[in-house]
Amino acid sequence: MPDRIGPAELRTLDRAHVWHPYGPMPGRQEPLVVESASGVRLRLAEPAHGQLELVDGMSSWWSAVHGYNHPVLNDAARGQLDRMSHVMFGGLTHEPAVRLATRLVEITPEPLQHVFLADSGSVSVEVAVKMCLQYWRSAGRPAKRRLLTWRGGYHGDTWQPMSVCDPEGGMHELWSGSLPRQVFADAPPDGFDAAPDDAYVRHLRELVAAHADELAAVIVEPVVQGAGGMRFHSPTYLRVLREACDEHDVLLVFDEIATGFGRTGQLFAAGHAGVSPDVMCVGKALTGGYLTLAATLCTSRVAEGISSGDVPVLAHGPTFMGNPLASAVACASVDLLLGQDWELEVKRIGAGLRRGLAEAAGVPGVRDVRVLGAIGVVQLDHEVDMAAATRSAVREGVWLRPFRDLVYTMPPYVTGDDDVARICRAVCAAAKEG
Ligand SMILES: *Cc1c(COP(=O)(O)O)cnc(C)c1O
Repeated sequence: MPDRIGPAELRTLDRAHVWHPYGPMPGRQEPLVVESASGVRLRLAEPAHGQLELVDGMSSWWSAVHGYNHPVLNDAARGQLDRMSHVMFGGLTHEPAVRLATRLVEITPEPLQHVFLADSGSVSVEVAVKMCLQYWRSAGRPAKRRLLTWRGGYHGDTWQPMSVCDPEGGMHELWSGSLPRQVFADAPPDGFDAAPDDAYVRHLRELVAAHADELAAVIVEPVVQGAGGMRFHSPTYLRVLREACDEHDVLLVFDEIATGFGRTGQLFAAGHAGVSPDVMCVGKALTGGYLTLAATLCTSRVAEGISSGDVPVLAHGPTFMGNPLASAVACASVDLLLGQDWELEVKRIGAGLRRGLAEAAGVPGVRDVRVLGAIGVVQLDHEVDMAAATRSAVREGVWLRPFRDLVYTMPPYVTGDDDVARICRAVCAAAKEG
């Protein structure tokens, strides 16, 4: 193969050999070839619909909060690369992992004291579930091994996470018989600011109570359900879950993989409710979108419970656990975030999204427009035509990835006001033509 492969050839080879997310083989869509990325812009290898550069409205799925090719993150990666990019974590430790774990303990709710560094969000959810099941096994209550969640969620694509994804959109039918069967509450009523629905609160309490003897944990995405439908709910329901879990001896897991690191306007979405989970997962923006890394945090009660059982260890240990390169970049990314007024930036972007997306409310076929933190969502009353919607966004010079009935955006926090306005024009165009 030549040193550089041209874009046409790349697309041919891509179609023939490379799986893409939720894609068939060979691929049916024509992916755009990205050559490089800098700031909030993706540079294409060849113009698409007249654009060579696209403003990234997706932060590469919630992760690139500081934008691309950031000098501080580049330096952190280069510096670590010169020391070591990886070393096994069994019997060895190193500064990047220790520093990162300590930092995560400092910035997450106080009861969370122990950190398992996993290699992806889905794996961190697997670890969270394993922690909960093992906790109850150690406590002499092995029957407590089911999970409760509410509908409309998304927790990843591996086995346990899939079992708590929305049963309608989560391909449960495809896997029925193989997936663990979990307990599902109705989806939380819509609206971050909506007054709590008493009937729903009762529903949650009753369901936890009814299944308490078999429940290891309740697992939910706090405040924002992401890939399951981009829905926002009242933080009250998180307080209700915390109370119900305490009352009935059930652990509470918050999956903050999408919501963590400021995206919803609080550093972690649990902050909106003022409650702390027993176990919490973070990922996505953890490394500022540079490398794959996630973490599962737990309380001392959970850790001590596991470690005092008849199998007194947490039986999990991925090859790339605590990867130094990813940990070093994560430390730099967290420091970069906390070293600036991120709250102000998230508010600024939220205000820009509110302004720019208001127009979409009047577009025929639009059911709802909502903004929370630096997340903007336009929900249609029909399935979006992904190809048409993407095309109209690209024409506006913006990268979006609509799905189901949703055209949505969560821009990097460094996106300037003009680019936020441009993203909004693209979302409106995609909503019109999709
Ligand atoms: C993306 C996501 C995951 C899965 O993370 P991966 O790194 O893709 O495995 C889990 N939970 C939530 C809430 C997510 O948004």
